[in-house]
Amino acid sequence: MSRISTATAGPDRVRAADSAHLWHPYTTVPAAETPYVVTGAEGVHLTLWADGEHHRVVDGMASWWSAIHGYRHPELDAAVHAQVDRFSHVMFGGLTHAPAAELARALVGITPDGLEHVFLADSGSVSVEVAMKMCLQYHRSTGNAERRRFLTWRGGYHGDTFHAMSVCDPDGGMHSLWGDVLPGQVYAPAPPAGFGTGPDPDYLAEFEALAREHAAELAAIIVEPVVQGAGGMRFHHPGYLGELRRIADAYGLLLVFDEIATGFGRTGEMFAADHAGVVPDVLCVGKALTGGYMTLAATLCTPRVARGIAGGEVPVLAHGPTFMGNPLACATALASVELLTGGDWRGDVARIESGLRRGLAPAERLPGVREVRVLGAIGVIELDRPVRMREATRAAVAAGVWLRPFREHVYAMPPYVCSEQQVATIAEGMVAAAAATLAADEDAEGQ
Ligand code: PMP
Repeated sequence: MSRISTATAGPDRVRAADSAHLWHPYTTVPAAETPYVVTGAEGVHLTLWADGEHHRVVDGMASWWSAIHGYRHPELDAAVHAQVDRFSHVMFGGLTHAPAAELARALVGITPDGLEHVFLADSGSVSVEVAMKMCLQYHRSTGNAERRRFLTWRGGYHGDTFHAMSVCDPDGGMHSLWGDVLPGQVYAPAPPAGFGTGPDPDYLAEFEALAREHAAELAAIIVEPVVQGAGGMRFHHPGYLGELRRIADAYGLLLVFDEIATGFGRTGEMFAADHAGVVPDVLCVGKALTGGYMTLAATLCTPRVARGIAGGEVPVLAHGPTFMGNPLACATALASVELLTGGDWRGDVARIESGLRRGLAPAERLPGVREVRVLGAIGVIELDRPVRMREATRAAVAAGVWLRPFREHVYAMPPYVCSEQQVATIAEGMVAAAAATLAADEDAEGQ
């Protein structure tokens, strides 16, 4: 086989190999959809190739909510280069290094007080698996082995591995195919929608009744605080979090917050838990941890959880991926956290929030739009029908924006470094994507 440089492989060649061999997230092979080829990424822009044409677009998705500082950031690039020059990967069994240790110190410094121990996982889903394992092992080690189920909200999303899937929505969600093989969990309705409304006492009474009924078999409550992301981009009142803490304590359950999507400033606070001043027993972070550069996630826990595990018959947390604590990823994550905390992330997120509110207002008047909602650097147009993916994506790209709608949602979670003008462009792209779905539906009806 002749050698080919990935820097010079033409987009036609890339596309041909892709469609012959590759699976993409949630696709079939051969693929029904032809992906755009990325030929560059710089600042908040992606350069996409399709059918002989290049499009320079603003990335409204921040690479699935992770590239908060944009692409090719000089400080993140420098952190990668500096670490490559030292060493790229070493095993984490019996060895440690500055990138992992300093990252752990930094994470403990910015997460809610009381979380002190850090497990470095290699993806968000794995960090959720580790969180669930920590909870089961804590109870097993402290004489409550029968506590092995999780209480969770419907409409959530926690990842695609089997235990993570079991705490996603079992019926309406992406994983309903697997209902018969997943461990059975206890599902409460999602909290009533609306960041500004609540908490609703009737809802809480119903939730608490479920916790009470199943208390003897429950290990933990696991939820996405404030924003349920990939399950439906729903926002709820932060007041529910304090109530979850109270209920967890009352019935001997641990409380797990999955902040893989909401962490690192996305909702307007550093962590969504900070809206309510609530400290969970276990916290999952990922996505924006490395500024979107590399795959890394983390599960943090309190000394109480760690001590419980250490006191058990098997006193070790039996989990240890090959690429645990990858130095390149840790060095980049440390640089990303320092960039965030050293800058005006609060001002950046507030600017995006007001820009999205202004820019999305016209969508409220479109027929077929059920709701427009904005929180922090998250904007959502929810339709009363499924988005037509092809038409919506094309309309967005034509408007100069990259979006990846799902189900009834056209949404954006852009990099924090977007200018006011770029936020306005993203909002225009979102409105165009929603309008394209409605227009295509009208055409189909008219035929
Ligand atoms: N939890 C939440 C809240 C997420 O949004 C995601 C990813 N969308 C995951 C877990 C899974 O993370 P990963 O895709 O890195 O496995």
